[in-house]
Amino acid sequence: MVTFKGTKVVSGIAIGRLFVYMHPDRQISRATVEDTQAQLEAFHEARLKAVEQLEAIYESSAAYLGEQSASIFVAQEMLLEDAQYIGYVEKQIKENNYNAAYSVALASDEFSRLFTSIEDKYMQSHIADVKDVSERLLRILCGLESETTDPGEPCIFASDDFNAGDIVQFNRENVLGFATMFGSPVSHASILAGTMGLPSVIGLGQEMLSIYDGHMAILNGIKGELIIDPDKRTLERMKRKQKDYEEQQRMLLLLKGKNNVTKSGRYINVYANIGNAEGVETALLYDAGGIGLFRSEFIYMESPTYPSEDEQFMIYKEVLEKMRGRKVIIRTLDLGTDKQASYFRPEKEVNPALGYRAIRISLAQPGIFKTQLRALYRASVYGNLDILFPLIISVDEVLAIKKLIREVKDELDSEKTEYSSDIRLGIMIETPAAVMISDKLAKHVDFFSIGTNDLTQYTLAIDRQNPKLETYFTTMHPAVYKMIEITVENAHKAGITVDICGEAAADLSHTADYINLGIDALSVAPNMVLPLRKKIRECD
Ligand code: PEP
Ligand code: MG
Repeated sequence: MVTFKGTKVVSGIAIGRLFVYMHPDRQISRATVEDTQAQLEAFHEARLKAVEQLEAIYESSAAYLGEQSASIFVAQEMLLEDAQYIGYVEKQIKENNYNAAYSVALASDEFSRLFTSIEDKYMQSHIADVKDVSERLLRILCGLESETTDPGEPCIFASDDFNAGDIVQFNRENVLGFATMFGSPVSHASILAGTMGLPSVIGLGQEMLSIYDGHMAILNGIKGELIIDPDKRTLERMKRKQKDYEEQQRMLLLLKGKNNVTKSGRYINVYANIGNAEGVETALLYDAGGIGLFRSEFIYMESPTYPSEDEQFMIYKEVLEKMRGRKVIIRTLDLGTDKQASYFRPEKEVNPALGYRAIRISLAQPGIFKTQLRALYRASVYGNLDILFPLIISVDEVLAIKKLIREVKDELDSEKTEYSSDIRLGIMIETPAAVMISDKLAKHVDFFSIGTNDLTQYTLAIDRQNPKLETYFTTMHPAVYKMIEITVENAHKAGITVDICGEAAADLSHTADYINLGIDALSVAPNMVLPLRKKIRECD
C-alpha cells in the first residue's frame, strides 16, 4: 500500500482501478538513414495501426458522442489514406534519407501551413485533423502509443496534469475521479472536474508514475490523498467513509427547497456554474436558483470546428427550457490560455494569459461573435436569459459589444425572428482595470459578475495555473478583498447587482465576508450549492 498526498480540489471518495493517462514527452530528432526501405515500412506499418485505432475510437465514441461528432475520426482515417500526405512523407524518406518520424513531423507542419493559407473555414478545420493524425503516427513510431482515453470500465483517471481539452474527450461514464502529479485548483481542468462533481486531487507528486496503471486505488477528495493497493482494512474503512460521505450528501439534500437566508434575514441567490447542457441536470438536482455562469467556451472545445449558430441555439434553448424560468447567465466565448479548441490555433504568445483571449477574440472576429449572439438572442424566448461578457477592461469594449448586439437585433427584426426584450447584459469583473473603472462601467451594464480566479491572478500577478505558486495564489489577500469591495460599492451606487462566480464563491470560509460586503449572488459548482446554502443559513 502506498499513499500520496496532494491538494484536494473536489470533495468525495472514489474507489476503483487507476487508469494512467500520460502526456508523452517525445522529441523528434532528424536522422539521416541508410536503410530507407526500413523507414518506409515503419511508416506504412504505423499508418495501418493508426487506421485500426481510429476505427476502434469511432466505434466506441459514436455510441455516446453521436455519429456526427464521431465523424471527425472518419475524416482523420481518410487523411491516412490521402495520396498527397503519404507521397509527401515517402518523398522525405526516399529523397532526403530522413527517418520516418521526422518525415511525418515535416508533413504535419507542411500540410498545416497549406491549410492555414486557405481562407476557407472548412479547410481550416483540417489543420487540427492533420496535427492529430500526425501526432498519432508519431506516438506509434516513437513507441508511445498507450493513448486510449477510455479504460472500458469506471476508473480513477490519473495523469501528470490534465488540461480542459483532455477532460471533455473522456467517456464520462467511466471516470470516477481525477488524480494528478501537478495541476492547479483554479485551472480549467479542475473547474471542469468540479462542475462534473467528480472527486479530484492534484499535486500528488512525480512518484505517482505509470507503474501503477491498473492498480486498485482510493482517491480521497475530502483529505487530498491517493492510496494505491490499499490493504483490506483500509479498503473497508474507506468504503465506510464513502458511505458516510454519501449519507452526508443525502442530509444536504434535505435543504432542497429551502431558502438561502441568513439568520438575520438576508437573502442571497445561489446559482450553479456549468460548462455544457448536461450540467443543468446536476444544477437542478442540487436545487440551484439558476445558472450563474455557463462557460460557453466548452461548447467550442467539445466541437470539431466552430459550432454553428443552429448548434449553439439548440444547446442554449435546451438549457433555458430545462431551467424552467430560473435565471440562466450565459457567458460568451472565453477561449485562450488553458482553454483551447483544436481548430483554434492562435499564434504562439509569450504571455497567453495577457494575450489574445476572451472578449478580445470576439471583438477581433465579429463573425464568430455575432454567430454566438444570434444563437443566444434566438434562444432567449425559451427562458430567463442574461448574457455575460468576459475579461472586460474598458467602456469602449462594452460600447463595441452593444453595437454588435444592435446589429444582431436589427437582423433578427428584419427576419421577423423573435427574441426576449428582458435580456440583462453583464460583464465579468476579473481585471484590476475593470475594478478601477467599475463606477463608469456600471452605467453601461445591468450587472457585474466577479471572476475571482482571474481577478486574483491579475491583481497579485500570480499565474493561476502554476502549481509552484499555489501558496501565493490566495483570494484571502487584502488586495483581492479590496477589489471586491470597490466593485460592490460602485455596482450598488449605480443600482446594479453583483455576483461572484469564481471558485472563491464556493470557499465557505469567505461566505460571511462576502455577505458583509453586500454580494447579491454566489455561483458555484453544482455540488457546492447545498453546502453553501447550509453555510448561508448559519451566518448571522
Ligand atoms: C474567473 O476568472 O473567476 C472566472 C469565473 O472565469 P474562468 O475561471 O472561466 O476564467
Ligand atoms: Mg476568468
